[in-house]
Amino acid sequence: MTHAVDVVVVGGGQAGLAAGYHLRRLGVGFAVLDAQAEPGGAWRHAWDSLHLFSPAAHSSLPGRPMPAQAGQEYPDARHVAEYLTDYERRYGLPVHRPVRVGAVRRDSARLRVETDAGTWSARAVVSATGTWWRPFVPAVPGREAFAGRQLHTVDYRRPADFAGQRVVVVGGGNSGAQIAADLAPAGIDLTWATLRPPRFLPDDIDGRALFDVATARRRALEAGRADTGGVASLGDVVAVPPVRAARDAGLLKAQPMFTRLTEDGVEWTDGTRAEADAVIWCTGFRPALAHLAPLGLCGARGRIPTDGTRAVGEPRLHLLGYGDWTGPASATLIGVGRPARDAAREIAALLGRSPASPDV
Ligand code: FAD
Repeated sequence: MTHAVDVVVVGGGQAGLAAGYHLRRLGVGFAVLDAQAEPGGAWRHAWDSLHLFSPAAHSSLPGRPMPAQAGQEYPDARHVAEYLTDYERRYGLPVHRPVRVGAVRRDSARLRVETDAGTWSARAVVSATGTWWRPFVPAVPGREAFAGRQLHTVDYRRPADFAGQRVVVVGGGNSGAQIAADLAPAGIDLTWATLRPPRFLPDDIDGRALFDVATARRRALEAGRADTGGVASLGDVVAVPPVRAARDAGLLKAQPMFTRLTEDGVEWTDGTRAEADAVIWCTGFRPALAHLAPLGLCGARGRIPTDGTRAVGEPRLHLLGYGDWTGPASATLIGVGRPARDAAREIAALLGRSPASPDV
């Protein structure tokens, strides 16, 4: 049996919910298909100590503000998952789960969405599948020779899993710094390897300030003024309290990137070696877009060329929440609302619905 609907939103994390919120306000019929058994998207899979880098009041989706978490200026991942659960219920968003979308195909005037729970036929699709599900590990020589454990950020949970072990953390971004800062104070024998010396943002810059910087950049570009450089020009690592504490205690000393793995550890270009029981690759993610492969839209770096959120090669497809290439700060809680609204408006126009009110 095929379910017919105006819009299918693939993915029920924060980006998919924000899209649903705005589609609902515009009176567009839709279904959200989410592969997870429970609400919360990637937030349910994060490591135990992960906290937001912004206070709750600056981490809200459109409509309902995120409530503060008792005793925590920066809420933890569980709190975010609970907020998303409540958000979904409060707005009665039609999320179907667990439903995994395997393929989206053109089907004359419609798009066919094939899932492990039947087929959906839609006039437009919003893809909001995130990046957590497609971890990236660089091709460093010797990876297959290493006899210890290799994990990615997505596999890491807590220091106790590495008690008594020698651990190499790879990566100078937020995940690498936070996981290194989680392990080092727990007495783990840690080597932190980064491609270039870590660039900590000033201590008073948290997600709030980053969002302001991203907004200023967007406004400058929209007004035709010079590029302000955005967030990346400031640094790579937000000095969240645990990172700051570990850094100030002298526990976060980065080494240059090693050149290869050996059977029992890692080796630098000058022949220096460090033995290791585990290597944790905190080396980033790619957009989870495999379900869109049949549309033949893929461009450089695994991305699909977009104009705003709309796929250049398929106007019935919008991509939401993957990074700045799908809207400034769109991969954050506070930032996804605006591109979600823009995508919903474009879809409403495509379907011949005029927005219910200009300010939605
Ligand atoms: P996800 O949360 O990954 O949701 C996507 C959903 O789509 C999932 O439920 C997934 O199962 C589903 N899905 C995937 N493929 C399919 C498919 N084929 N069919 C059906 N369903 C599918 N942002 C902030 O605002 N503040 C922070 O402090 C912050 N900290 C972060 C820390 C880390 C370590 C990381 C990795 C990210 C952080 N982010 C932060 C960024 C961002 O908010 C999160 O990554 C967020 O989870 C992205 O939401 P999303 O909805 O785009 O994707």
